[in-house]
Amino acid sequence: MSSNRRGDMVLNAVAGRRASNSGWVRGNCPFCEMKTDKPDRKQCLGLHVATGKWHCFRCGSGGIITDLPDDITDLKPETPEDKETRRPVEPPEGFRPIYDGDWLTALMCAAPLDYLRGRGLSDELGKEAGIGAVFEGKLRGRVVVPIYDLDGGTWLGWSARAWYAGAFRKYLYPSGMMRAELIYNHKALHVATDKPVYVVEGVFDALALWPDAVAVLGKPSSFQVDALEIAKRPVVVCFDGDAWREGDALSRKLRFLGQRAGFIRLGPGIDPDEMDRAELDKLAFESLEG
Ligand SMILES: [Zn+2]
Repeated sequence: MSSNRRGDMVLNAVAGRRASNSGWVRGNCPFCEMKTDKPDRKQCLGLHVATGKWHCFRCGSGGIITDLPDDITDLKPETPEDKETRRPVEPPEGFRPIYDGDWLTALMCAAPLDYLRGRGLSDELGKEAGIGAVFEGKLRGRVVVPIYDLDGGTWLGWSARAWYAGAFRKYLYPSGMMRAELIYNHKALHVATDKPVYVVEGVFDALALWPDAVAVLGKPSSFQVDALEIAKRPVVVCFDGDAWREGDALSRKLRFLGQRAGFIRLGPGIDPDEMDRAELDKLAFESLEG
């Protein structure tokens, strides 16, 4: 297939759609069906409108379109059955980037920073992960972990954790967030390596194993299972100690689908961020051999 033909297929797939603020426009990948036997219905194809580079994070197809039209939104109107499934959300009202510039030393940031450092989170990682805090309103007294799209900039959701004791609910999420359509630190699945990626439940578990972990934020959805199935590296499921049956079932399913997958059973009440990292890595490699 000529590269022009492929370029036309990519343009057809994204026609009529708007690019995100970071310049990525998404669409259903036209090459997935051929390469993986399953059509893409989850907008896995991304085209960067400034450079013409495109990539499918599901089947790995990619290339560059050298002669992009001026405005791809003019090509074809979006059809109703072809709606975006991954909907961006706004950062919460009052969100402050506590690791940026003068915020880091501002007196008001001492409490959230103490909390995060107390959980073992370095300031470098806090900044890399874009973590912030809210000081007033409904989310007052919470640190906020953004859940980004694969572009690493578009917010698809967030997790707000109270830094004070005795909060009515420890974690809050935005009402419009489609949990089942996202994965925290999704990009880790696309790193081609033999080093396993951990699948954990919560964002802080993933941060503790950074950058080699993704969080599913609850019971794994079919979208999340699809994404794990095509990960470019082995997958080791490491749910909280009390959810080991779900973790075992997920790893069996992934192995059945042909993915290199393992599972670690933690003790009752033990979370992944409480484990020694070297010990966990050893268990991960053993689980893949078994
Ligand atoms: Zn594809």
